[in-house]
Amino acid sequence: MSGRRHVDVASLVDAARAGSPRAVARLVSMVEDAGPALREVSAALAPHTGHAHVIGLTGSPGVGKSTSTNALVSAFRAQNRRVGVLAVDPSSPFSGGALLGDRVRMEQHATDPGVFIRSMASRGHLGGLSWGTPQAIRVLDGAGCDVILVETVGVGQAEIEIASLADTTLVLLAPGMGDGIQAAKAGILEIADVYVVNKADRDGATSTVRDLQGMLGLAGQYGPAGEHDVDRWRPPIVKTVAARNEGVDDVLAAIDAHRAWLERTDGLRARRRERAAREVEAIAVAALRARIGELRGGAALDVLADQVATGKLDPFAAADVLLAETAD
Ligand code: GDP
Repeated sequence: MSGRRHVDVASLVDAARAGSPRAVARLVSMVEDAGPALREVSAALAPHTGHAHVIGLTGSPGVGKSTSTNALVSAFRAQNRRVGVLAVDPSSPFSGGALLGDRVRMEQHATDPGVFIRSMASRGHLGGLSWGTPQAIRVLDGAGCDVILVETVGVGQAEIEIASLADTTLVLLAPGMGDGIQAAKAGILEIADVYVVNKADRDGATSTVRDLQGMLGLAGQYGPAGEHDVDRWRPPIVKTVAARNEGVDDVLAAIDAHRAWLERTDGLRARRRERAAREVEAIAVAALRARIGELRGGAALDVLADQVATGKLDPFAAADVLLAETAD
């Protein structure tokens, strides 16, 4: 800490709120690095958060996520909404600037002061998206973004986790990739609030939609509205040609309809409470791990481990002792 220049967090937050991309980038780095100023940044941002609509975007590599993100950014900007983009790659060791794959298309937005774009790796040792991503979302939210698009670049658990961070989750599919089946296997069907069948200019888009409808029908998610569940959300299926900006307005309309439904049913508050609970839990668990790590370096855990290894103590009783010590 001592060798570094002093960072005035309050001014940085003010600058970010005034629209300084540098200040936003700096704050994201500070929370992502989990450095000494993390707490101060988090506290300074808290009163300004809760405004942004967080949209998760997921799907297999190649379905058109980054093309769609780009098209959505343009559409939101046309509505004069301030947009944040987080491209999260759980498999990448790189964070910061435009380091992820093909980010070139995003360059058309790079000079727009109403758009913040950030690529980030998620820190493996702290587990998936659970640590850095919610903090980065807080920065973008606190900086005054109306909409935050969180795009997962990798595959796997992150795709599922994104749903717990987002108010609205878009799952992208494309014809001819066996995506429907993949999605069903990966448990992605359940997380979508809106299905986007991209590359609708290709053969097979109609059958992809039909397959999806069939699967959703089987899953009980897409039957016709009954009188008793008028306020159940049935994820719509929207066809797009992201590469030509076709259907993007329909995606926006579906997002807005989902948002309206969330507000009408109190779902927004419930989702955000759940998101906050996970966030607090992740921070607490990380703190506990760190504390246990410190104890591991000392004699306390060694002594307990010895007792467990030699049968003098059972591991549950030992864990109780350890937890009691972390509280000291
Ligand atoms: P990502 O890996 O999911 O982010 O996919 P990309 O956005 O990088 O797109 C993968 C490839 O599909 C690129 O070559 C895009 O130009 C192309 N692509 C994206 N959208 C469409 C579309 O609507 N139709 C067609 N034919 N190609 C598309």
